[in-house]
Amino acid sequence: MPITGLFGPEDFGNPAHSPNAPAPRRALNHKAPSVPMPSLEWTPDVERATAHLYEKVKAVIPPVEWPFMAPYIKAINELKRERNAVILAHNYQTPEIFHCVGDVGGDSLKLAIEATKVKADVIVQCGVHFMAETSKILNPSKTVLIPDSRAGCSLASSITGEDVRLLRERFPGVPVVAYVNTSADVKAEVDICCTSSNAVQVVESLGSDTVIMLPDQYLAKYVATKTKVKIIAWKGACEVHERFTGDELRAYREADPSVQIIAHPECPPDVVKEADFTGSTAHMIDWVRKNQSKRIVMVTECSMADNVQAELPNVEFVKPCNLCPHMKRITLPKILDSLLYMQEEVTIDPMIADKARRSVERMVNLKN
Ligand code: SF4
Repeated sequence: MPITGLFGPEDFGNPAHSPNAPAPRRALNHKAPSVPMPSLEWTPDVERATAHLYEKVKAVIPPVEWPFMAPYIKAINELKRERNAVILAHNYQTPEIFHCVGDVGGDSLKLAIEATKVKADVIVQCGVHFMAETSKILNPSKTVLIPDSRAGCSLASSITGEDVRLLRERFPGVPVVAYVNTSADVKAEVDICCTSSNAVQVVESLGSDTVIMLPDQYLAKYVATKTKVKIIAWKGACEVHERFTGDELRAYREADPSVQIIAHPECPPDVVKEADFTGSTAHMIDWVRKNQSKRIVMVTECSMADNVQAELPNVEFVKPCNLCPHMKRITLPKILDSLLYMQEEVTIDPMIADKARRSVERMVNLKN
């Protein structure tokens, strides 16, 4: 059924709201690192030490680029051991990060769950800021670093904790579900979190005939087609997925009727309607592994197709290439600096973190 209502900051005149404001970058620590600065030369030793990693990405990284990446990769992997650190890499990170320095790769749900099992002292989040906050929420005693704190998200910046409080005043007693793509401040105000993998299950788990689901209006519209629960949505959108259009996908299909189209539910409804399959990044990857179709249009952030292509070189990905500018702030040199200088540390007010943890853990503990 269609969503029941759609609200945005203008409906509440909330002065605390600052849409799409990028997080200011913290002053960086320029003190000398407490570990020696690694050499970043391309040498036969670096070539030998990284040869097994190049095997993983050779389908998507040309040999001419590898000598520029390999010294950083070797240095980062050595520093991880030195710092007792683990790198969590989102599916939208570029292949040299995802496959060559990431210890755990996946979608937001997998990273959130893996963050609870981490034994290392330090977590380096290769993803955007709300993901690093989620890791800190679940690991309050660990040091959580993000290589560039300006890596934001148009969904996370579309809503504030104050917006959620105003929504609750407007709809007293209606439970609130927040997509994990929200700040700790917002997570602290809601009943439970969800990801695109489990959104329908989370909405139905609340036992209410109406649920507020925020901040992604397109994910809310998609969930509304899958459940009888009435959904009140927020006017947020992912700036990457909302750029895809149904016309664009119809053109791909007209050019090659055998092509399979798979889309993320953050896309607008006309895109989802054109798709042969709609699912979270994890579900999209499973679908590709199972179906191994010859040509696939993967309607999501561009790097994910590269990461899957590295694993399945025989599948041809047609890429309507939309990159997330926030994810692309994370680079090998910034990851190296992050581990060298132990920057930029993610901190959350402990009272907000405690409340936010309840919402995230309630989701993580949901039985399948
Ligand atoms: S792809 Fe969209 S939802 Fe994901 S981090 Fe970028 S802006 Fe946010």
